[in-house]
Amino acid sequence: MTSERKRAVGSRGVQETPTLAEALESLPEPTRPLKPLAPAFIPPGLWRSGADRSLLASAGWRRTRERILERDGHRCVYCDHHQGRGLEVNHISGNSRDDREHNLETVCALCHRVLHAGRSAAIYGSLLLFEQANVDQNTLQRLCWQFRSGPIRLPDRLLMALLGLAGPRPFRMDADDLAGLRGYVVERYYLLERRARPAPQRG
Ligand SMILES: [Zn+2]
Repeated sequence: MTSERKRAVGSRGVQETPTLAEALESLPEPTRPLKPLAPAFIPPGLWRSGADRSLLASAGWRRTRERILERDGHRCVYCDHHQGRGLEVNHISGNSRDDREHNLETVCALCHRVLHAGRSAAIYGSLLLFEQANVDQNTLQRLCWQFRSGPIRLPDRLLMALLGLAGPRPFRMDADDLAGLRGYVVERYYLLERRARPAPQRG
């Protein structure tokens, strides 16, 4: 980063972008050890069909989902994010038909997209991949939440500079290669995904 501190908009008006040390200092202590996070993808053989997607809307799945959120204390297991909005339940093996408890975990919207890097990076463009960052993937997620929903809001450009993201890389279906990269979910990921989704089929 240059020595010139860039401007960010906070709830108290225009503020200066924090340094990385200040940003790390501002993070709340995680309430428990975090599960290590790295970009990953679901093998094509396990991709969801339309029928699998309608299962996700069923009352049975809603009950299972509630039970898992409860079990995990309504916190993302990778970054400790705990605001109700944005919590999802991930199938650890990638097999969305296996709803056994040990295959399910609570994740936030950002960590979920890092775990499904194939879909997010290659299809929606809502996840960007880089060779380098100043912090590990778990800390990267925590900083994203802190500077998107905390008192100081940083737009993508400033947040990416703070995180030291460099060496952009396209998605490749190579699990080992992918796990060595850092994933960054763009601020407006939901807009990109909504735009890309085909209209629901009738009948
Ligand atoms: Zn998370």
